[in-house]
Amino acid sequence: MDDSYDSEITNGAASASRSHRRISLWKDVPLQEWEDWHWQLRNRIYTVDQLRQVIRLTPAEEAGVSRTQGRLVMAIPPYWASLMDPEDPNCPIRKQAVPVEEEFSIGPHDMRDPCGEDGDMPVHGLVHRYPDRVLFLVTEQCAMYCRHCTRRRLVGTNHGLMNDYEPTFQYLREHEEVRDVLISGGDPLMMTDVRLDGILTELKKIPHLEFIRIGSRTPVTMPQRVTEEFCAVLKKHKPIWMSLHFCHPKEVSPRLKVAMDRLADSGVPLGSQTVLLKGVNDSPEVMKKLMHELLKVRVRPYYIYQCDPAQGISHFRTSVEAGIKIIEALRGHTTGYAVPTFVIDGPGGGGKIPIGPNYVISYKDGVMTLRNFRGETYTYYEPGSGELVSVSEQISSNGNGNGFHHVPDFVP
Ligand SMILES: *Cc1c(COP(=O)(O)O)cnc(C)c1O
Repeated sequence: MDDSYDSEITNGAASASRSHRRISLWKDVPLQEWEDWHWQLRNRIYTVDQLRQVIRLTPAEEAGVSRTQGRLVMAIPPYWASLMDPEDPNCPIRKQAVPVEEEFSIGPHDMRDPCGEDGDMPVHGLVHRYPDRVLFLVTEQCAMYCRHCTRRRLVGTNHGLMNDYEPTFQYLREHEEVRDVLISGGDPLMMTDVRLDGILTELKKIPHLEFIRIGSRTPVTMPQRVTEEFCAVLKKHKPIWMSLHFCHPKEVSPRLKVAMDRLADSGVPLGSQTVLLKGVNDSPEVMKKLMHELLKVRVRPYYIYQCDPAQGISHFRTSVEAGIKIIEALRGHTTGYAVPTFVIDGPGGGGKIPIGPNYVISYKDGVMTLRNFRGETYTYYEPGSGELVSVSEQISSNGNGNGFHHVPDFVP
């Protein structure tokens, strides 16, 4: 391992370990173990009793955790737990990981499969909805089970996604229109490097596949997974892009930064998908801070998703207006790279539909009246609107007013 990384990890981990050392459960864990992702996985929090040693539980959390048996399981890696505020039930890190009683209330329009994925699977685990690209679900497992999971009908269960990828490879070999494969799950990073390498090797053999991306939250919930060996696999199969899932600026910890540096230094372009969540990130201030933190660690904000109407997550849903206001507060007010696209996944299988503030005040006969981010109006005339005048006529009629006379080439 490279020395500079070694010391960065030690620094990043040291700040994490300062927080983990204050937690009695892990106070004696050596840094080497804390840094081992297998240790992180083995030591995930699954029970109320373990959780009680890390945070002061509210009655709603206690009831939520006890009732998750048979539903989307709770599993919290120690790293993520070390970011949770032990006293504050409104802590955004905690809300994404600790189940509450509201998960057991199902609204009238909630759906088991809100994005209609099951209906678009030509092969088990392969969603082919768009003309040129597919979503390849390789596992049901995740490092942490996000309470707002839209795929909770599958995630954390066993639906046989890992059994046999050959039918998917065969489908992709036969479908030359597919040029882009998005590997997701569950979380692909729950697989060993060897297994991931095997999948990537098989995909790379298919000549019409131009582009592969991996959708993962593990670098965020358990950055220890981003090892040198893992990065070597990504490098070997370049170009590989990664779509990460960030929801709150607190997630961009010193330890997280080390993982992002490793990925970015390995030449992996990084994007972020964020789910708009009530009480977590539904204010323009928090979102803007998140987008800025992401750019600092070389992650380009890609999408903000309106929270899907999946069963048991309605307490996380905001109005669509909240998302529009967030985009309004970003566009023009900060770096363009910090402005993702806000989308609603059309319930039942419509795909991603962009939603945003309306900047067009009127548009008629080639004349468009626009407003900018400050609310000032501007008129844009499309080509063909109004009458054309020839250059010489324009110069003689305008006199010196428009500066054309400074450009000799324009004078006939
Ligand atoms: C999100 C998604 C994709 C990828 O969409 P992009 O807009 O290209 O990122 C592909 N297939 C399915 C089913 C999806 O939900």
